[in-house]
Order: sequence, then C-alpha cells, then structure tokens
Amino acid sequence: MMDKLAIVVPCYNEEEVLHIAAEALRGVLDDLIAKKKIAEDSFVLFVNDGSKDRTWELIEKEHKEHPVQCLGVKLAGNVGHQYALTAGLLTAMEMSDVTVSIDADLQDDVAVIEEMIDKFHEGKDIVYGVRKERKTDTFFKRTTAQAFYKLMAVMGVKTVYNHADFRLMSKRAVEQFAKYKETNMFLRGMMPLIGYETDSVYYDRKERVAGESKYPLKKMIALAFNGISSFSVKPITMILGLGVFIIICSILAAIYAFVSYFTDQVVPGWTSLILSIWFLGGLELIAIGLVGQYIGKIYMEVKQRPRYNIEKVLESEDE
Ligand code: UDP
Ligand code: MG
Repeated sequence: MMDKLAIVVPCYNEEEVLHIAAEALRGVLDDLIAKKKIAEDSFVLFVNDGSKDRTWELIEKEHKEHPVQCLGVKLAGNVGHQYALTAGLLTAMEMSDVTVSIDADLQDDVAVIEEMIDKFHEGKDIVYGVRKERKTDTFFKRTTAQAFYKLMAVMGVKTVYNHADFRLMSKRAVEQFAKYKETNMFLRGMMPLIGYETDSVYYDRKERVAGESKYPLKKMIALAFNGISSFSVKPITMILGLGVFIIICSILAAIYAFVSYFTDQVVPGWTSLILSIWFLGGLELIAIGLVGQYIGKIYMEVKQRPRYNIEKVLESEDE
C-alpha cells in the first residue's frame, strides 16, 4: 500500500495565486504518483481562512474540476495562519498517511516535496523545509526575521533556524501534535516537542508568485511575542534576576553612602533616602519575580501538554 499524501495550504485572500498554486501542487502530486512514491488518491487540501475575496469560490471551482485531487475546508472566519494550518492538519490527519504544509504563495520550493517524501520513506516523522538564504526578502524582513530567531534562542525556545511552516509530518506526528491542546499556538516551537526523528531539506525561497504578503509587521511582532510567551517563562525569571542585581547594587550603594556620610558633606537625609529607594526597589522586583515563578508554573500546567511521547515499545510477540 502506497502512502496517501495530503498537501495542506492555508489561504487568506489568495485569489491571485490560488489557481497557480493548485496547478503547481497537482503537478507535484501527478509526478509523485507516476514515480509510485504516493497513493493515487493523494490530494491538496486548501483551508480558506475567512478570506474576504473570491478565494473560497476558486477553491470550490478547483474541487469541481478535480474532485479527488483538490479538496477544501472553509473556516467560519479569519483565525490567522497558525490556526488555519492546524485546522488543515487535523482535518487531513483523518484522511491521509502523511501531510506536507505549504503557503499558498509558492514562495517555498515545491520541488523539494519529493525529497521530503523520500526522507519520510526512510523513516523520518517530521521533515523541515529550511531556507538556504534570504536573497529575495527585503533587508528589513531579513534582519527582523534573524533577530526573531536569535531572540527565541535567548529565551530558550527551541526552533529550527530559517524554517517557517513548510514541513512534512507523518500521521503519527500529527496525532501527537493533536494532543497539545493549548490555545496560544506557535507551531514552529511545538514541532521539536513532538520528539520523533526529524530531518531537513534545503531550498531557495522565492518571491510571491502574485498578490502581497498577508503578514505585515504588526502580525509578525504578534507572532514573535506569542512564540516567546507561549513557550518560555524566562521573562519572569529575568525580573527575578534584575531584583537580585538591584539588591546587590543597593549593598554597594550602602557602602558608598556610608563612606560619603563620614567623609563628605552630604545633605541630611540623603543617605537613608537613597538606600531605601534602592533596597525597596530590589525587594519589590524579587517579590514580583517570585510570584511570577508560580504564575509561570500555573501557566505551563494549564496547557496540559502531553508529558512524554512513546516512540516504540519492545515487547514479547503475542502468541
Ligand atoms: N494566511 C492565513 N491567514 C492569515 C494570514 C495568512 O491563512 O490570517 C496564509 C496565507 O494565505 C499564506 C500563508 O498564510 O498562504 C503565509 O502568508 P504570507 O505568504 O502572506 O506570509 P509571508 O510569506 O509574507 O511571511
Ligand atoms: Mg509568503
């Protein structure tokens, strides 16, 4: 039995590119089917993320013309790329053996999907599409994106450098992903938590075939903040650290103030005032940081993430 592939494509106001994307992705399917790498009923699943343009009509049209190869999911409103993709993956999970997620604008190279499938057949459960370089991105997008990956690393969130959401996931990887019930989702941070064997394929990222980016700076900053705040309580720990640092400073200031008190002429009351300000400031930050540690724990608890993922069990054969 050949594995059935589902290519999941989130679409928000993508009327300009939808048909081009459908053609290209069906081409990929046909090619892989001809090479006997995937099942004949493999398909592309378009997820309409509450588009305000004709995107859904176009998806319906594609489905009419290619009832097996082009399927669609219509979300009731715009929920954003991360949720639209999740909706697509969870829907596809029921209908396929392996999924590949890709943006509608074809910026990611569809040619490496074959390489991803090869790695899947070698036993990899997650295969990341990684950009070789960012020549086609503007200087602004490139530097902000790089700053983003660095910041994530500093905050202790594991991500794959230069990987967006172009990736292959086996059915069991999606099933494990489905156990993460958290609402604030940052997919790129969640994938490494799944823990199965992974690999990467490399490609050059192209420019959008048509239309414009649906990810303005505002959405990018929101994504970055969400990524950090959903995965890390480090900012809280930093407050605690700052409090300790200020207390240390206040001790040094105390020494300085005492020396000044006995040697220089100081305004009466200055010594006690300056010491109280530093000491109390530090103490308050420590207190907030400590309370924050508990809130951080509660936050992680309420996510109810799976605590482990069993990959394999060796047991005696059933009789
Ligand atoms: N997208 C979506 N919902 C949104 C915004 C974007 O489903 O609210 C989709 C969009 O249609 C595209 C993908 O997410 O398929 C990536 O968006 P885009 O290419 O505009 O982002 P960029 O490549 O500029 O970062
Ligand atoms: Mg894009």
